[in-house]
Amino acid sequence: MEQFLSNPQLLFFIPLILVAILVESFLYKKRYKKPYPWLESGISLGVGLGHQLTGVVNRLLIQGVMASFVWNYRIFTMPDVWWIYPALFFGLEFCYYWYHRASHEVFLLWATHSTHHSPNEMTLSAAYRLGWMPFLSFTWVFFLPLVFIGFSPIAVFTMLSINLMYQFWLHTKLIDKLGFLEGLMNTPSAHRVHHASNPQYLDKNYGGILMIFDRFFNTYAKEEEGVEIVYGLTHPNYSKNPVEVVFHVWRELIAKTSQKNGLREKLRLIFSPPQ
Ligand SMILES: [Zn+2]
Ligand SMILES: [Zn+2]
Repeated sequence: MEQFLSNPQLLFFIPLILVAILVESFLYKKRYKKPYPWLESGISLGVGLGHQLTGVVNRLLIQGVMASFVWNYRIFTMPDVWWIYPALFFGLEFCYYWYHRASHEVFLLWATHSTHHSPNEMTLSAAYRLGWMPFLSFTWVFFLPLVFIGFSPIAVFTMLSINLMYQFWLHTKLIDKLGFLEGLMNTPSAHRVHHASNPQYLDKNYGGILMIFDRFFNTYAKEEEGVEIVYGLTHPNYSKNPVEVVFHVWRELIAKTSQKNGLREKLRLIFSPPQ
């Protein structure tokens, strides 16, 4: 789950999230006979708090400035009828797929999204480990076409918040495969594959709520029996400092860009796959 928008609605869910994490910690110890990774959860909490604070600025720039600007130049205005809700749901899911895929395939977007992939264990707290610089990563441009064709910025970003909130429960090892839902919906099993750094699972399962676009664009992979998943980045980051976790890949991007000569070479690196 990513996320370039801070999520005010999330505040109402905090007690629920805390209870879920406590239950998970109890079941985790029982099932895996090892201590729950509270330190990882604490780091995620620090990153998540920073995401909420920086989210004020990101939200202002993305929704308040960019989306409002596009809204003024929209080509239609969606009518107030029932079918615009399913239309927006599927439209947003399509945009989310490409936003998420680009976040893995383009260095500039990966700089922000990599934060979400930094936990070295899959627990619920990974859900709120989210980057701080979505505005500078241009992740939001993927959602502006919806505004351009006439969905209001409030409708688009509310639907996106719902999509992100859905993804909270996907971040756990404790929920096994869910039968016929696998391959249709994003499930804990599908999202474990997405967070894996095993070569066979890299760059798979980009959907937010659905898996249908992954099936359509050939990026779907199911969790195989007997394959132990290694969570985290392919170059793992073991820092305990939330600020370092957030800016680790940004620093790499800036260092590698500054080594390149000329604007064309610099831009080529920024828009190339992460290195
Ligand atoms: Zn995730
Ligand atoms: Zn991802």
